Amino acid sequence: MSHPEIDLSALQPYLEDLARRLARADGDERRAMLLPALHHAQSLYGWLPRPVLEAISRALWVPLADIHGVVEFYTMFYNEPMARRVVRICEDPACALAGGEAVAAAIEAELGVEHGGIAPDGGEAVGYERVPCLGMCEFAPAALDGARPAGDLSPEEVPEFLGGAYPEPGARVYGGPFLTLGRVGQVDPGSLDDYREAGGYETVRRVVNDPAGPEGAIETLSESGVLGRGGAQFPLGLKWRYTRGAPGTPAEKHIIANADESEPGTFKDRVLMEQDPFSLLEAMTLAAYAVGAENGWIFIRGEYPRAAVRLAQAIEAAREAQLLGRGLFGRPNFHFDIELRLGAGAYICGEETALFEAIEGRRGFPRIKPPFPTTHGLFMQPTVVNNVETLVAALAVMRVGLDEWRALGTEDSPGTKWFCLSGHVERPGLYEVPFGLTLREMIEMAGGIPGERAVQAVLMGGAAGNFVGPEQLDTVLSYEGAREAGVPLGSGVIMVFDETVDLRPVLFQLSRFFAHESCGKCFPCQIGTQRQMEILSRVALEGGPVSGDRDALLDIGFTMTQTSLCGLGQTAASAVLSALERWPDLVPEQP
Ligand code: SF4
Repeated sequence: MSHPEIDLSALQPYLEDLARRLARADGDERRAMLLPALHHAQSLYGWLPRPVLEAISRALWVPLADIHGVVEFYTMFYNEPMARRVVRICEDPACALAGGEAVAAAIEAELGVEHGGIAPDGGEAVGYERVPCLGMCEFAPAALDGARPAGDLSPEEVPEFLGGAYPEPGARVYGGPFLTLGRVGQVDPGSLDDYREAGGYETVRRVVNDPAGPEGAIETLSESGVLGRGGAQFPLGLKWRYTRGAPGTPAEKHIIANADESEPGTFKDRVLMEQDPFSLLEAMTLAAYAVGAENGWIFIRGEYPRAAVRLAQAIEAAREAQLLGRGLFGRPNFHFDIELRLGAGAYICGEETALFEAIEGRRGFPRIKPPFPTTHGLFMQPTVVNNVETLVAALAVMRVGLDEWRALGTEDSPGTKWFCLSGHVERPGLYEVPFGLTLREMIEMAGGIPGERAVQAVLMGGAAGNFVGPEQLDTVLSYEGAREAGVPLGSGVIMVFDETVDLRPVLFQLSRFFAHESCGKCFPCQIGTQRQMEILSRVALEGGPVSGDRDALLDIGFTMTQTSLCGLGQTAASAVLSALERWPDLVPEQP
């Protein structure tokens, strides 16, 4: 394909500024600017032509071959011409259930292109893609037009959407009592003054000036019983204690907010970052104080442009107000600042070691553990990685105190938890509730099933979770209740399917997601996710299963689960296996 002549003059001011800022930087610091540089260049050209990559290579001292490897790793970076404006429509389960296919067809008809095409639209080129989950399942069917999100789309609304007149979605937050989400909808997310008037930054100021010191804060958090909310459920207090105790100065330690949630059904962290971004900054500052770390990073997925913009604005405002920087809260030795890193369409970067590689300017391949991040994390230095909900839960504990926190929930699962309700419920949204409700109560809180139809299945914990049937609706949603029932809480996904749904296309969509997202580093996952998708494509879309499909799915699932290198491959077959066990007729032994 012949490519247009590339004029580098638009990129030069950025690269010159970068060169000034990196004048004294070492190789690691330079390379860590690769993702921002690629994003900036792509915002100028719409894609990343070779002369642009060569200029970035020279500025950052990163070999061109390495840069090509990074560009090819991420689906939102383009090494062939693409439009600056790209329309993306989600084709994963929640959106598919809500009529996403008809919306996609309407967009394709309006633009006159198919997936991957570029349409001229009144002079401005528009790229178009069908993509994995956009993390807006409560607004299904959802789409992005450049950085502009849209939800609840119908085919009739597509012209308005493409014309830029369709309203952006707000927030759907329900439940209570709200210990963490109380400011959503109550404050202007762009206003630091609003945040402070609502009590913002009082907690961290009080903790920093508390004579109990960092150890006291960690002790309180250990007693709070907060476990990691991203799915791994590692005790928060222990992680912070290990990192605090790891050898290294504060300048050599890091706090990372893992905001790369990307799994179909998961959208909780996006809501907080869009609607109450300062609370994440305050929570990270608390973590920095407790752990003794000077470097903060937020790694946010590329599909969350609105949240990324609001976080960037919040970071700037916090710096101006000296809530980030050096000598914070009157303590001359407390320094902390935050850098934002935008991903580019790779679910695997939510795996903590892959996330390090991504920030460091490499392809997001998971590392082999041990060593663990608490001693050898980002730049092989001690690092805390927590997801957004976990950090905000820590802030809530320190704000309300142990008694109020532990008064909610159960003995072994104290406090509140976020659940993402989507699919066939009347009121999809993000729910903050105390641990201990049943699955049935959650569905009822969300208004029940539309049309008074019956529940057929619920996907629990996300794409990497399990399906449960109606007989498990009384499962208690606490760590111990879920363990007892053999149900994963995961990232809090509750995706409901009513009795009318054919689950086979849903299984195909889940398998397609994992085949798309496998990083390819290890064979069981690289090959297994592809084979799993191929079989489920035949089962769901191409005439049904053939003899041997069921055995092959069980074999592939077992192999991926037992032998894959990281959590993605280890859980890529979980939902499929749980469905095959529960509903054997989906893929019968003898079709
Ligand atoms: Fe990559 Fe999958 Fe292996 Fe994880 S399990 S390292 S995602 S190929």
